[in-house]
Amino acid sequence: AERTQVEELPILPPETTRAKFNEAVAELRKDIGERNVELNDKPLIDGWYMEHPNTHDAFHILEQDDTVSSATVYPGSTEEVQTIVRWANKYLIPIYPISMGRNLGYGGAAPRIRGAVVVDLGRRMDKVLKIDPDNCSCLVEPGVSYYALYEAVQATGYPLWIDTPDLGGGSVLGNAVDRGVGYTPYGDHFGCHCGMEVVLPTGEVVRTGMGALPGKDGADNPCWQSFQYGYGPYSDGIFTQSNFGIVTKMGFWLMPETDHTSYMITFRDEDQYPEIMSTIRPLAINKVLGNVPQLRHVIQELAVTGKPKKFFYDGPGQIPREVIRKWAKDMPCGDCSWVFYGTVYGPDDFRKGQLEIIRREFGKIDGSRLMLPEELPEDHYLHSRVSVCSGVPVLRELDWLNWMPNGAHLFFAPIAPTSGEDVKRLFELCRKRHDEYGIDLFPTLCVASRESHVIVNLVYDRSSKESKKAAYDCLRAMIADAAAEGYGEYRTHILFSDQVAGTYNWNNNALMRMNEALKDALDPNGILAPGKNGIWPKRFRGKGWEI
Ligand code: ADP
Repeated sequence: AERTQVEELPILPPETTRAKFNEAVAELRKDIGERNVELNDKPLIDGWYMEHPNTHDAFHILEQDDTVSSATVYPGSTEEVQTIVRWANKYLIPIYPISMGRNLGYGGAAPRIRGAVVVDLGRRMDKVLKIDPDNCSCLVEPGVSYYALYEAVQATGYPLWIDTPDLGGGSVLGNAVDRGVGYTPYGDHFGCHCGMEVVLPTGEVVRTGMGALPGKDGADNPCWQSFQYGYGPYSDGIFTQSNFGIVTKMGFWLMPETDHTSYMITFRDEDQYPEIMSTIRPLAINKVLGNVPQLRHVIQELAVTGKPKKFFYDGPGQIPREVIRKWAKDMPCGDCSWVFYGTVYGPDDFRKGQLEIIRREFGKIDGSRLMLPEELPEDHYLHSRVSVCSGVPVLRELDWLNWMPNGAHLFFAPIAPTSGEDVKRLFELCRKRHDEYGIDLFPTLCVASRESHVIVNLVYDRSSKESKKAAYDCLRAMIADAAAEGYGEYRTHILFSDQVAGTYNWNNNALMRMNEALKDALDPNGILAPGKNGIWPKRFRGKGWEI
């Protein structure tokens, strides 16, 4: 990969000289170890999901070297994280913490500010510190992936599940601090965490919840992973989707293993989704739907086969609706428009009862069809849902990327009430913009219960300026359109965070003004991830960094 400009490498952090930077790096090497500080002065390699870079965004949407680091440092302990934070304050160098940096579609490992030093916590701080079979909980460091936690739990032999998102290679802790979701009944990752250890931007360490109360004789508090709130203001939330601290340990609840049955329901007509949503809502709120089910457009049945778009359609622009239907007809889903994936949990009788209600209620929608895993071929996507929905990490979702050559993706991820009317408004604006920019529309609804995460996956070709620009402009337009209708995103790519944060502007930006007050109090020198989630410290605020 070629750098776009001829610049001396590494790219410097803002407001520093090369001499000052070299001096700072020499000191960091002395403190953390020669081997644990790497300069970003080699060609940028996008790699792939399992060999992802920690130097830039592997799914770059602007130029590849637009959001690059100057260096990466690998701390081995909480103390070393404190040392790095103090070092950053001394040299006024922005640092950007990542757990594993597999946050692809949201910026990956890339810092929001060009030339920041990436603090890669995951490489050396990768221990499962505790698995408690009686409390059904664990305590992990940032470098523990879903695969690693899954294996660690399996190795204990305890009948416990983890909850994994669509892809299992990311960090359990990193995903939870970004408020990611999974698909078992424990799919709300932040909601199922219990206790944190955080290094503040000044170098102080705090423990939240019951962890703030020392256990006897220096032990961890025995309730640290049992009770989320402790005493006083509940502070954990401010360390998620923010730049207020570096999380070095985090507790999670683990679900006791149980029997489960996954199913798939297909719906015939494109315009049936309001009716589908009205059917889903009461079932979700009453917990008849046992997990975070997904409603996907049938185009995804094509995409998850891993075959490229060209295989299905070689023409220009979007793949036409009739072409999707034609292919779907010969696939197990048949000629349909929407596919619903759900799972029920618990003893046989319990599941049987739930499935009966599900069959009956969805059966009222004309042309719907329920299928169980044993009715589908072995390579069908439902089997991969069976794994994910019972806490077994998979990589199947990567098959999407084959849709385009040099495939990368971005997400548009607004929240909607679980209602047909609201989802319709969002889909219509998405469709309009996707048509305008000639991008295939891949909508998925992840239904938590009262709300749905509407996840729209924009797949683009990283080697094509036009393809990137279309995806970028389309996303910007959808964020603005959605806000005008009163909808906002739950998460976004680092380059869209100013725009998204700016839509949460009720009462003259009262929330952002509060966040800025917190930021300035906790991080007076503005060294920790400036600009992340749209929060700029005083030092950078209003100086042209916002985009
Ligand atoms: P993943 O672990 O899923 O690969 P990342 O490491 O890319 O995810 O982290 C996802 C997001 O959360 C990034 O925006 C990152 O800056 C932030 N983040 C990750 N780990 C921490 C942490 N330990 N402390 C504070 N922020 C973090």
